Amino acid sequence: MPSDTSEVFLKFNNVKKSYDQKSLVVKDFSLDVEKGEFITLLGPSGSGKSTVLMMLAGFEGVTGGDISIAGQSVTRTAPYKRNIGMVFQNYALFPHMTIAENLAYPLQVRKMPKADVKERVNEYLNLIEMGDFGGRYPGQLSGGQRQRVALARALIFEPTLILMDEPLGALDKKLREQMQYEITRLHQKLGFTVIYVTHDQTEALSMSSRIAVFNDGVVQQCAAPAELYERPANAFVADFIGENNFIPGKVVKIAQDQATVAVSGGATITAVASEGLREGGDCVISVRPEKLFIQPTSHAYDNEVKAEHVTHYYVGDFIRYYFKFANGTEINIKVLNDLAAPDFKEGDEGTLVWLTKDCIAFPT
Ligand code: ADP
Ligand code: MG
Repeated sequence: MPSDTSEVFLKFNNVKKSYDQKSLVVKDFSLDVEKGEFITLLGPSGSGKSTVLMMLAGFEGVTGGDISIAGQSVTRTAPYKRNIGMVFQNYALFPHMTIAENLAYPLQVRKMPKADVKERVNEYLNLIEMGDFGGRYPGQLSGGQRQRVALARALIFEPTLILMDEPLGALDKKLREQMQYEITRLHQKLGFTVIYVTHDQTEALSMSSRIAVFNDGVVQQCAAPAELYERPANAFVADFIGENNFIPGKVVKIAQDQATVAVSGGATITAVASEGLREGGDCVISVRPEKLFIQPTSHAYDNEVKAEHVTHYYVGDFIRYYFKFANGTEINIKVLNDLAAPDFKEGDEGTLVWLTKDCIAFPT
């Protein structure tokens, strides 16, 4: 994050939004975005992500706060003057126009000379590897092809800022992954800035330079994908990003950012102490399924808790085990599929082990 604010390209400053003059659906949103970043707004449905995009695009006014682009406030600027490219889930191509005409449209609106339009349209058709499709109509394309055209149409007038609201939501998994790659490739090649909205955490993790996790109109954490995954700021983020087990307990001691936690049933666990944790307070320990191991294991460990095997199943690249602590807490474990995978029957006792650095204690 630059301390020199002149480097900030896009700035949200304490932005608020209410649709009914009573409740705020975006509560106090502040974010500095550098040129060329790929920022994803990630969160459950109704958490305020699209509202933020709509305010940035200018289709919704702000209830409070300010948005600026390149140092200029745009909160009173008409949408078309903000020069922002947009891609939505429902492609919104003009059905009566050919693909080439669809791509030419934003250039014609901006009064580009005819010869230049033709050249630019061909360039962008080639960029999305659809050089031969210029004469077709949207109805003659597959969903994935239409979405590539929609992407090209948003990029073709070379805006510095592109907004995408769940653009891949209507595509099946395989196509979605191809398009994620396609968007990332174009972003790296052309260097525009992206604000991307999704509720799909895998998509967010694989595409973004930073992710802002929304819940109920409030950003819970804004960080690079690896940091969000490895160091979630609170239990909401730990639960929303990836998978986690949650073990309730009581904090016995905190020393050097490490918490000693007593778990009902007699076990003691050491965990990384998150901000706000207090000795004597209640907490919940989060530990990811892939960070747990079942004894005997060649992995090093700090924590060791006995548990009863409930069930397990084969998932191909890994095996998922379910165990239960003496206090009833259910724990799931992902073990990479190799031939040495332990064989348990329901009711068998096992010992689960993991490292202190791989679990975090959050206050509750
Ligand atoms: P998300 O994109 O994260 O699913 P939205 O920004 O669409 O969330 O919605 C946030 C909240 O604002 C929701 O409670 C939604 O019902 C409400 N909302 C969104 N758009 C409007 C609107 N045009 N009028 C009134 N309420 C709206
Ligand atoms: Mg939305």
